[in-house]
Amino acid sequence: MQINISNLSEGVYSYDLVEKATNLGFDDQFDEIVAAHVTLEKSINQLLLTVKASVKGVFVCDRCADEFDENVETSFTTVYSWENDDVTEDDDDFHVLSHDQNIIDVSDSVRDYLLLAVPAKHLCGKRTCEIPKQSVVEKETVDPRWEKLKELIKPDRN
Ligand SMILES: [Zn+2]
Repeated sequence: MQINISNLSEGVYSYDLVEKATNLGFDDQFDEIVAAHVTLEKSINQLLLTVKASVKGVFVCDRCADEFDENVETSFTTVYSWENDDVTEDDDDFHVLSHDQNIIDVSDSVRDYLLLAVPAKHLCGKRTCEIPKQSVVEKETVDPRWEKLKELIKPDRN
């Protein structure tokens, strides 16, 4: 997911980038394309990128254990600035450009932000989605130890 920044004059540009998820280092759970819409604002000192990205993944429902597709979406901003005395360190949202650099690659940022956006809980949302019978039965069965406890508690209350 590269953008050619050579000969860009100051202004706002937009790019639509696509890349196969596995080429970006996603595992097989994400086997389709990653799409990223990038708005790039070039000023004298820096490039400000606003990125909206999405990828479809296959998840296992936490309730019914069925597999289902879910779209993971994220948006973030990141800054690229040309190296100078003040600017030497890279971090997640700040990248240092060398003066002869013509290409920026947003692949790593897009992948990292999408992975952060994967929800911790997965529910398929299907109407038939329910906890499989077996575990329902387990939950509804009263633990015999509780019955014993109830008997112990009752006399105290009276
Ligand atoms: Zn489900």
